[in-house]
Amino acid sequence: MPETEKISQFEKIKNRVINFIDFVRLKQKEYSGEISFEELSEVLAAEFAEFQNSNPQLNEEFDPKVQFELVKKTPKEVRKKALDEFKTKFETQKLALAECRVYLERLIRQNPDLKREFLDATIEKFARGYGFSQNQKQIFKDLLDKYQEKRSEIIDLKEKYPNKYDLLNYLTGLNFGPQDNFEIFFDPMSITFKASGEVAYKISHGIENKKGKNFWNGEIGGFHKILKEISVIVIPIITSDEFKTIHSIATRRIHRHEMEHAKNSMLHEYFFGFNSLKSNVLKYRDVEFDDESKISSYLNDVYPYVLTRARDEFISYIIQGKNVSQKIFSRNYIYDYLGTLGLYPDAPYSILGDVWRKKITELEVRYQDTIKKSIAAFYLLRKDAKLNSEVAVALLTDKEFSRWPIEVKRIIEFSRSSKR
Ligand SMILES: [Zn+2]
Repeated sequence: MPETEKISQFEKIKNRVINFIDFVRLKQKEYSGEISFEELSEVLAAEFAEFQNSNPQLNEEFDPKVQFELVKKTPKEVRKKALDEFKTKFETQKLALAECRVYLERLIRQNPDLKREFLDATIEKFARGYGFSQNQKQIFKDLLDKYQEKRSEIIDLKEKYPNKYDLLNYLTGLNFGPQDNFEIFFDPMSITFKASGEVAYKISHGIENKKGKNFWNGEIGGFHKILKEISVIVIPIITSDEFKTIHSIATRRIHRHEMEHAKNSMLHEYFFGFNSLKSNVLKYRDVEFDDESKISSYLNDVYPYVLTRARDEFISYIIQGKNVSQKIFSRNYIYDYLGTLGLYPDAPYSILGDVWRKKITELEVRYQDTIKKSIAAFYLLRKDAKLNSEVAVALLTDKEFSRWPIEVKRIIEFSRSSKR
């Protein structure tokens, strides 16, 4: 089908609402990754109709910054009313932004190389109805540009190394050949290797020393790592029934988890400047902590870095479909980021032993407390505002982990008041 025809069909489908049974059937197909573009368009159109039903359109551009300034200038007698109207529009638009972002991701998952027109048309549809500002549209544009950049790097590699062994050897610097059995997947913005036994061990160790972790105890696991600026995912499978496990639901979920990390690595850089958070911490590697102010500034830089890492991990588990608690981030647990940095009171650090110990203890308490509250806020959001995980995560996309409780409180107050 020519592209222009495809777009006009896409426009038509948008306006048709499918029946419930078809809808459920198609949702299942989408979940198992077997949905066609036309079918997904139908699902999204039905969902958009439903979204419009529960969220009245704004029908004019609504730039929150500009509008808030106007509210502040309204006469005192009517300010309360103006502020209420502002809040309604603001929160409705926020939901639309999140919903739109999720639609784009679902279209991309169905076809990572979908023409940009379809993605732009989706943004336009939401933008018209929910008054996206120029700035909000620009963020979508930036993110899609970044996505397409990543995507073309993946495609380039695929073309440059049509042989999967050459590609893996290029990425890892190791030496694999036809005797090594593994599967390769070209995800939207990552390359995944699924392997078992010796090969799995060899790939994992070639990329990262995973020996110390409980990675080889028979569980299926996976990890994400940037190699030569490419997001590489490895899913080592240790089992006697190789084939079954490679295609199992558990493996698919882990794959989804790791792809979320690949996506977050882009989003976290865009919204929080993750790479500079990281280098802010690394720059202290050779610093001698011989006075209190050095310790303070180091720990100040550590805090946003470890929180962003915890945020990434939490979101990946949620998207995988698994609930997690703050515990996994605690001392000696699997995602003990403070421990990885050697940041516990007994670490052999400094001549300022007591000061160091005191400050680290405070940091640990504050860090764990923030994670605990942010995770609780997320679960409350999902339950109270009756949102699916993907939309709930999208609502918080540009919010740092420590901001989640306050953000969720606002959204929930709105969703309660809008239900009267
Ligand atoms: Zn993870």
